[in-house]
Amino acid sequence: MTSPDTSQTKVLLAEDEESFIDALVVGLTREGFEVTVARDGSEALKLFDAVEPDLILLDLMLPKVSGIDVCRSIRARSSVPIIMVTAKGTEIDTVVGLEVGADDYVAKPYRLRELVARMRAVLRRTPHNQPGGDEEQAGSIGAAHPVLESGGIQIDPDRHLVFVRGEEVHLRRKEFDLLNLLMENAGRVLTRDVLIDRIWGSDYYGDTKTLDVHIKRLRSHVEVDPSHPLLITTVRGVGYRFDAPRS
Ligand code: CA
Repeated sequence: MTSPDTSQTKVLLAEDEESFIDALVVGLTREGFEVTVARDGSEALKLFDAVEPDLILLDLMLPKVSGIDVCRSIRARSSVPIIMVTAKGTEIDTVVGLEVGADDYVAKPYRLRELVARMRAVLRRTPHNQPGGDEEQAGSIGAAHPVLESGGIQIDPDRHLVFVRGEEVHLRRKEFDLLNLLMENAGRVLTRDVLIDRIWGSDYYGDTKTLDVHIKRLRSHVEVDPSHPLLITTVRGVGYRFDAPRS
């Protein structure tokens, strides 16, 4: 099969800023998406039923009904992928968005390329969009995972190798997965729930201290001074974030 997975993928864009709407409609259409625009929250809910989109791009700050309430309302009846669009520096809103069921988020201003990459990633993770069923497996098994490098840490997911400031370190499986997930989302806070869900699975009911223990071990491997972590930072009451140093 050679057809791109975005052909005829219907996107509901809930956004009230005309400058964003214009750019996104042009950009996403060019990427092969079929875009429907809702300019406020109540229109988004109406169009959700009318259009039955494959993915929703949901601005958090919408007139009439907020993005959070739109997300909560849609999540109550559908597992359609939702990407929240937040303003810069609204970390708490972002966390609320993830807690009410958004699959991912991008912060404004963002690059179209980044947005499309996130859209494709959530679509890949969603069986909803895989009529064949086999494609998802083929994608996740066959696809090469890029080597990530940041803050002196290099992680190679396919070869299961980690180098810290040039020295190879040996991480346990879960520590490795945790580091990889944090680095894939460098600069973005991941909630405890999201981390536990992605690393241990949604059916994990063990002690939530497990996460902290793994973070602590991971820090002992990657931080220059594990008692003053600079790479894997705690976002109080929320979760953890891999901080890519600005250079
Ligand atoms: Ca807005």
